[in-house]
Amino acid sequence: MNELVFAPPPVPSVAVAGVRARFPVHRIYCVGRNYADHVREMGATPQAEPPVFFAKPADAVQDNGSAVPYPPSTANLHHEIELVVALGSGGRELDPARALECVYGYAAGNDLTRRDLQLQAKARGAPWDTGKGFDASAPVAALRPVAAGHLTRGRIWLKVNGALRQESDVAEMLLPVTEILAALSRLYLLRAGDLIFTGTPAGVGALVPGDAVEGGIEGLEVLRHTIAPQERA
Ligand code: MN
Repeated sequence: MNELVFAPPPVPSVAVAGVRARFPVHRIYCVGRNYADHVREMGATPQAEPPVFFAKPADAVQDNGSAVPYPPSTANLHHEIELVVALGSGGRELDPARALECVYGYAAGNDLTRRDLQLQAKARGAPWDTGKGFDASAPVAALRPVAAGHLTRGRIWLKVNGALRQESDVAEMLLPVTEILAALSRLYLLRAGDLIFTGTPAGVGALVPGDAVEGGIEGLEVLRHTIAPQERA
């Protein structure tokens, strides 16, 4: 390797249930508008609104149990509990029938969103990056390797300070994991280390400093994190 002008940042990574080795994160892709009840709560019509793809930086991941700092430049930070798919291999133009062969494991994740910035961007036809791709915006619990089976159904839920805010079943996804992987692989070269947040059900809402967030998907480690005060310069 060529000499670097400064030491590179550490490789972002996610815990794996039952082993000490961690999963190195290459990219984070996200699916929007993938549960009909959430599409409706955002004021759109499910059939008229195909899922959208966006991304977060790989170093936005946060370990289970983190105190996630309230991000700057927002007054409306939202939670979005989601099934996260982790890839152990990739490719282009994957056949939906074989796409699950690329999956390394599954986890529960929170697609933290600066909703005010996202809505401003939508209104202007501008990219969602500032609303979605900010520092520490991707808390993820430990991955469960596929040896324990693929995950196509199961209760998905999120509580804030013990009160239930979101509840559905991952079988309710408009675009299932097989089709998400096929569609993403027509847009990008998917690679080992990619994480895919697969969309959230209805019930998204605001978080404030001091909140305790707890969210899960049947069969996977429960994700728990708090919201800490905003970090100052
Ligand atoms: Mn989302």
